[in-house]
Parts: sequence; C-alpha cells; structure tokens
Amino acid sequence: MSDYSLLINGDLIRTKDSFPVINPANGEVFARAPECSIEQVNQAVEAAEQAFPAWKSDIAKRKEALMAMANAIQANSERIAEVLTLEQGKPLSQSKMEIMGSVMQIQLSANLTMPVEVVQDSPKGLLEVHRKPYGVVATITPWNFPVSIAMGKVATALISGNTVILKPSPFTPLSTLLVAEAVQSALPPGVLNIISGSDPLGSHLTAHPSVRKIDFTGSVNTGKKVAAAAAPDLKRITLELGGNDAAIVLSDVNVKQVAKSLFWGAFTNSGQVCIAAKRVYAHESVYSNLVEAMAEMASKTSVGDGMVEGNRLGPINNKPQFDRVRELVNDARNNGATIVTGGDQLSDNGYCFANTIITDVDDSTRIVAEEQFGPVLPILSFSDTDEAITRANNTNYGLGGSVWSGDIDKATEVAQQLECGTAWVNQHLALNPMVPFGGSKWSGIGYINGRWGVEGSTEIQVINVKRA
Ligand code: NDP
Repeated sequence: MSDYSLLINGDLIRTKDSFPVINPANGEVFARAPECSIEQVNQAVEAAEQAFPAWKSDIAKRKEALMAMANAIQANSERIAEVLTLEQGKPLSQSKMEIMGSVMQIQLSANLTMPVEVVQDSPKGLLEVHRKPYGVVATITPWNFPVSIAMGKVATALISGNTVILKPSPFTPLSTLLVAEAVQSALPPGVLNIISGSDPLGSHLTAHPSVRKIDFTGSVNTGKKVAAAAAPDLKRITLELGGNDAAIVLSDVNVKQVAKSLFWGAFTNSGQVCIAAKRVYAHESVYSNLVEAMAEMASKTSVGDGMVEGNRLGPINNKPQFDRVRELVNDARNNGATIVTGGDQLSDNGYCFANTIITDVDDSTRIVAEEQFGPVLPILSFSDTDEAITRANNTNYGLGGSVWSGDIDKATEVAQQLECGTAWVNQHLALNPMVPFGGSKWSGIGYINGRWGVEGSTEIQVINVKRA
C-alpha cells in the first residue's frame, strides 16, 4: 500500500497495488507509489469528459481556479520540494526553485487569453476566428523536471478550457502526486486527474478513444510510439522530445567566462536537461584552454546526495540511465578517447557519476552522435566556422544550440544557421515561460508556452456570417 493517492474526479484515491520509488542518491527504495488500474484510468478519462462542458464555458472561473491552484502548490512547496529531491536526486535548493518556478508558470498561464480574431466586419458579413479547446488532454511527463514540465503543460491546457489526465514518470511520481493532494480542492472535480503507474499505463492512456489530445515530453523513441498511438483516432499531439544541442565556441571568446557559463549550460541538473549543451565544437585556437577551463569547473563542482547542503549537483536519476551514461563513456574510452576528468561513478551506492569531460572523439563516436542525458560532455575542435555549423546540424535532433563569441552580430548570424528550435548567443539553457519552446526535426512537434501554447491546446472555429 502506498502513502500517496491518485486524484480522480476530485477524490484522493488509495490503490490496492503499489510500486517502489528509489532514492537515486543511495539506490534504495524509500516509498511506494499507487499503481493505477486500467479501470481507474477509464474512470479518470470519464471524469475529465464529464467536467469538460462546464469548465470550457467560463474563462473567468478558470483563471480564478488556476490562481487557487498556484497558491495551493506554494503553500505546500517545502514538502513537495523535499520529496522531489528524494525521488529525482537534484539538490534541495534546486527542487525549491523548480516548485516556485511552477507556481509562477501557473500564475502567468492564468492570465493568458484567447481573443477572437476578426477577419471581416462589414455590411456584407462577419468573419471571425475563434479558438476552442479540444476536450480531454492526456499529459505525459519525464523524470528530469517532473513538477515544472507537468505544471507548464497542465496550466496551458486548463486555461485554454481543456480537462486533463496527468501521468508522471514511474521514476518520479511522488512530487506530482503531492501536487494532486495540494490542488484537490482548488479545481472542480474531474478537471485535473493525476494517475501513476508502471509501464502499460501511458500506452493505455494514449490509446483511449476519448482522449482528444496528447501532450508528451520524453524521449524521441517514445515520442514516435505516442505519434503512432495517436494516429488511429487522429488525436492531436504536442511532442517535446530529446536533443543533442551543439555549442559552437568561436576564436574570439574570453575562455574563462565562456567555460563558467557553458559548464552550467551542460551540467545543470547533472546534464539531465533536454536542452543542455551536449557536444561542444571549439575553434582550434581556443580549444586547449577551453578544455582545461571546463575540466577545472567539472572537477571542482561538488556532486552528491541532493539532501546534503553544499552539493551543487545530484545523482543520475535512475539505474537504466546511469548504465547508459556509463556505457557511452566506456564506448568512448574503448575507442581511444581521453577522459580529461571524471569518467565513472562516485561511490558504490546510488547513481552519482563524476562530472566528465571527454576529448579525442569524432562526430561518429556514440557520446557525440547520441543524446547522453547525463554529466558528461565531449569537446571537439574545428578550424572553419562553416564546418562547425555543418557538423552541428548533421543530426536528426533539432532542439537547441548556441554560439559563443566576442562579436554578438557575427555569433547571431551563425546562430541563425543552426537547425533547431532555440538558438542562443553567449548563453545556453535560458528559457522564458512566455516565449515559444519546441524542437525541429526529431526533437518535437508543436510549441509550448504563452500564446503559442494556447494555440497548441486549441483548434480553430471560423464563424462566417452573411449580413447582406
Ligand atoms: P521516456 O520517453 O522514457 O518517458 C517519458 C514518459 O513517457 C514517461 O512518463 C513514460 O512512462 C511514458 N511512456 C513510455 N512509453 C510510453 C508509451 N508507449 N506511451 C505513452 N507513454 C509512454 O523519457 P524519459 O522519462 O526517459 O525522459 C528523458 C527524455 O526526455 C530525454 O530524451 C530528454 O531529452 C527528453 N526530454 C525532452 C524535453 C523537451 O522539452 N523537449 C524536456 C525533458 C526531457 P513509463 O516509463 O511508465 O512508460
């Protein structure tokens, strides 16, 4: 039996079955999460369907409810943050930032509007473009930022008039379930349902015929399965998928300054960020100095249990991901790479991995060609900017990328040639909750945030009136 509950039709429900949740700092089970049955998934979808007509009809009430939801999460932020660190691994201060960022995102979303666009208003007729919610939205989230990714999606879907079933990753279900407890009385029953469970739950939810839209964040492989599951009913999809962001460092940079920012652009959340810098192309004239400065940052930044004050980075979240990161590092090592610093796990317990800088690899080495999603960064050199752009773009991924230079105009020109959803200049990872976010190529379909998020949560209805 779990100490946590599902939220279905406004009720907090304990389940008969449960599954273990592991603290990645020590590899031990510290809690059990409720295992939602197929029958309960169906109940959640039915509740969302029934809540939809009343919820979609009154935007003022939606705004009020979202503000109440934000307040409820804020009031419980300490408890949610602690559980987030225990299940995800990140340092407690960063968990607190994630929860407060989620509160802010909900508040900002509560103020989004869906204005009617008037195309023609003349004696002959009236032509208006309205935006209508889809109905029941299935929201599926990953384990790296379980609360903020979920709340960004949920808030946009709800303010747009949809009702939602939210399913977190089984690696990090508990913080989301605590959100369920916190917001239970802030929203009308059925408007937001939160369920947790192991593997078959996601595919059952995406196949359910009453779900009209799937809002998914996760890996490219699962994203393709979600798209296939959506096809029979032509469900709408937003897919926020993986990335393999390149950072291009030109010859005219201040190496020490770049190393400081670029390190955090790559290693924040122990590299478990979809838009982390995952491979660096540095001009040959600054290459050695950059490698040295990045290695210094990597070796002096403390990694360990997120509950221990002073640790700036936590463990890798789960065993399969830990094994994958180690496999990619060993593959590089076996193919002649130099491990400048780091290279293996930090202790026998848990999934802490040393911050790792790798050189002497080429574009076909797996650690460069694949998404590592961990605290490991390959640094490669280039001699010509066009060559660096070509190599950065030579991938199926297209989430983000960055260009670093003392000449902002030149760097901006290069950034515009990157094939990705967000291209930064002299920074990496900076996000604004009111600016569209999404990937090109295999990194995603659709955009979240601000009015672009509302557009993705709604469909168009044209009202065409003949007056004369
Ligand atoms: P996964 O794709 O493994 O899982 C994501 C979610 O999908 C989980 O809740 C998972 O639950 C569920 N899921 C798995 N299979 C199916 C299925 N067939 N149908 C429906 N749902 C399913 O990703 P990770 O959790 O491992 O997250 C890491 C990945 O997410 C990285 O590639 C990262 O880049 C990407 N990501 C992208 C972001 C973006 O905005 N572009 C942001 C953050 C992460 P279960 O495990 O129970 O199946």
